[in-house]
Amino acid sequence: MKKIAILGSTGSIGTQTLEVVRANGDIEVTALAAGSNITLLEQQIREFKPYLVCVWDEEKAEELRIKTADLPVKIVSGMEGLLEVATEPKSSILVTAIVGMIGIRPTIAAMEAGKDIALANKETLVTAGHIIMPLAKEKGVRILPVDSEHSAIFQCLNGEQRQGLRKILLTASGGPFRGRTREQMKDVRPEDALKHPNWSMGRKITIDSATMVNKGLEVMEAKWLFGVEPENIQVVIQPKSIIHSMVEFTDGAVLAQLGTPDMKLPIQYALYYPERRYLAGDRLDFWKLKEITFEEPDMENFRGLALAYEAMKKGGSMPTVFNAANELAVSDFLNGRCSFLGIAERIEAAMQAHKAIKNPAVEEILETERWTREYVTVHC
Ligand code: NAD
Ligand code: MG
Repeated sequence: MKKIAILGSTGSIGTQTLEVVRANGDIEVTALAAGSNITLLEQQIREFKPYLVCVWDEEKAEELRIKTADLPVKIVSGMEGLLEVATEPKSSILVTAIVGMIGIRPTIAAMEAGKDIALANKETLVTAGHIIMPLAKEKGVRILPVDSEHSAIFQCLNGEQRQGLRKILLTASGGPFRGRTREQMKDVRPEDALKHPNWSMGRKITIDSATMVNKGLEVMEAKWLFGVEPENIQVVIQPKSIIHSMVEFTDGAVLAQLGTPDMKLPIQYALYYPERRYLAGDRLDFWKLKEITFEEPDMENFRGLALAYEAMKKGGSMPTVFNAANELAVSDFLNGRCSFLGIAERIEAAMQAHKAIKNPAVEEILETERWTREYVTVHC
């Protein structure tokens, strides 16, 4: 029986992973980790019977210990707890459905322990891709993409020789504000930005989709996953999210993966790769769909994407600055302490003030994160 552990089990990807587990009935969940939603965690423990669970917050962990005293489950907390879940000995796959670069240490620890990674947590690859990808090779573990675009690319590359790959065509919906100018976005409120046209996702990635920072993070994610240079990754706006991404080969052939927008497909594909399983849900009806349209991304008004390319070209610790400034700015935006356009402005200010370190080690990445948060807090 396949055995998995999940970081971020109460979130959008985490709960959908458990739906896939429930529907298939042949995966054992050995360990879970989440931030603070202990009501949902308790339900998950009773249904999926993991024997190890981490709650980030120690007080909540204590509450959960009391609630689950009748069960044979060990409850841990904090970073030590996350590392314990990530390296839990029985599992062979770690699903990284946690949000933010807090995923770096647990992901590395799981790989050191020989586990495959079903990777949703793109912030980890963006900031530490230069450590993660060589480590995967060294340890002989697989990084299985869960992000829908990267899963699409992964599916298109199945059975192909990598030297034949010329270009990645990363599709993007353009988010809820596609077609707007900066002037038209200056008064955007969190409740407007939280309405994504096609996907229902966690709050942080939904804001990232509205600013197009998400697509910027995904360009960096694709660079690491598929070893493609930034100039060969082209973002293509495809507003309905039907084409999940495409690849172009040296002979001019373009392969694409299409489907209705449903994250359970890439999650299930990662868990069972290379096997394809039945997945309930709507199928594409091309007679009803009629057309699929394409646009060029607007990098003038959506600065987040342009800054991501800049961070990627500078490399080293610059993507960490891009990501850390964004994580803080998004949280400030959601709490009413930063305007919508202020998100990209903060990223840009932090990037301008930072002198990139080449090949940063984990400690230097975490130190750069601290520096960025302090810089943005003091100067923006
Ligand atoms: P979410 O906010 O819905 O869920 C995040 C999960 O992480 C929750 O379970 C939360 O409790 C947990 N978490 C947060 N901080 C934690 C901490 N300190 N310790 C332990 N657990 C913690 O987020 P999401 O939308 O599921 O996204 C998760 C990751 O997947 C992100 O990196 C996102 O970019 C990526 N992703 C999401 C989608 C999507 O459709 N939601 C698609 C592609 C990629
Ligand atoms: Mg995506």
